[in-house]
Amino acid sequence: MIDFHCHLDLYPDPEREVREADAARVYVLSVTTTPRAWIRTAQLAKGHRRIRTSLGLHPQLAHERASELPLFEELLPRTRYVGEIGLDGGSDFGKHAAIQSEVFETVLRLSAVGGGRIMSIHSRRAVDEILDRLAATPDAGTPILHWFSGTARQLRRAADIGCWFSVGPAMLRGEKGKALALAMPTNRILTETDGPFASGPAGPLRPADAWQAVKQLATTWNIPVDEARARLLDNLRILSETGPDHLKAGRLATA
Ligand code: MN
Repeated sequence: MIDFHCHLDLYPDPEREVREADAARVYVLSVTTTPRAWIRTAQLAKGHRRIRTSLGLHPQLAHERASELPLFEELLPRTRYVGEIGLDGGSDFGKHAAIQSEVFETVLRLSAVGGGRIMSIHSRRAVDEILDRLAATPDAGTPILHWFSGTARQLRRAADIGCWFSVGPAMLRGEKGKALALAMPTNRILTETDGPFASGPAGPLRPADAWQAVKQLATTWNIPVDEARARLLDNLRILSETGPDHLKAGRLATA
């Protein structure tokens, strides 16, 4: 099972989440929202081979944390994964559009210079600009649009430029989310929870709840759950084989 976008460091008891994700054998991309947070969040994953920690600078924090870009650059060689990054065009953050764009563009440029990264991207109400930037920086790596909420047309464009998608239980509960998931290339989908921000009936989602998304996708695809699970694990394998050689070889910290 895969939770390719989870904020492990933001649960009340992160160590417990790590233990339980490990016990449930979940592959976790532990995303961070600031470069400063990456350092201790990566420590959480130490000794847990299914957990990877990505270096992020969340668009909703860009205006407060742009000063951490030099730290981002310093830490980037230590991980193959970047996120949560992106743009947020929601009314509460739109006023910081200029600094968001500057941060996102810098992160993409640094990733390109570093040989490319696997990137977990937030694109709420900013899909067109995200896709423009990604198209302009193809060497930045493999983009994964997390909780995609754009239009069918934007989805086609995203798929055309090589985007992947991570989808979770909260997204797949709604009709729009299901329709979008059905239109995504089946060989470029992973599951996620976006916990603890995203919730289910039992409260904030946790990594093992990615299982709900596997079942929802099986229903959407009209295939048995085991087949959906196998397809998703295959996708994870393909994804982990992409990326720069010097990081693939595992000579750097496997954060
Ligand atoms: Mn998130």
